[in-house]
Amino acid sequence: MTRKEAGGKRALRAATSARTKPEEARPENLAELMAHAYALEVEASERYSEFAAIMESHNNREIGELFRKLARIEHRHGEQILERMGWVEPPPAPSGGWRWEGGEGPETGDAGDLHYLMSAHHALSIARRNEARAQAFFEDLAARMRGELRETALEFAAEEAEHVRLMDEWLARTPPPAEGWDVDPDPPRYVD
Ligand code: ZN
Repeated sequence: MTRKEAGGKRALRAATSARTKPEEARPENLAELMAHAYALEVEASERYSEFAAIMESHNNREIGELFRKLARIEHRHGEQILERMGWVEPPPAPSGGWRWEGGEGPETGDAGDLHYLMSAHHALSIARRNEARAQAFFEDLAARMRGELRETALEFAAEEAEHVRLMDEWLARTPPPAEGWDVDPDPPRYVD
């Protein structure tokens, strides 16, 4: 790595932590709140499509279909935000950057959570955690906002709470994976 690249990385990290100071972590107005909500819904939708593809590759059509449905729900929520705001295209990132830690929204989860052998139970647990995180994100915002902003944040929090409930329902009827679920007796081999 050149000295310049290292400096760039440091600057990027500094910028990232600068925008996650708790006292700054609050959208300033309705447009900014809605831009955050939009980004969160779109990222969640994309992640659920990835989960669906993994489940389908395991021939788990039932859970695959559940994740397709969730992807559609989150996608639809994103469109509703555009409609509600009269936006004809997705909002750009706010000038101060997104008000959440790391590069992805709280509902997105971590790509490192994905595993090609992951069971339905595992996928649902990750999804539940993401939904709970999204709920907490909006509840936390609501607690620090007033008026219309507060009402809107609470509305989003309630939607996410409903998704958490849905995940609990599915988890309750999905058996947990057997011990050693991530041990592949015939691991993929990569040959040049
Ligand atoms: Zn959700």
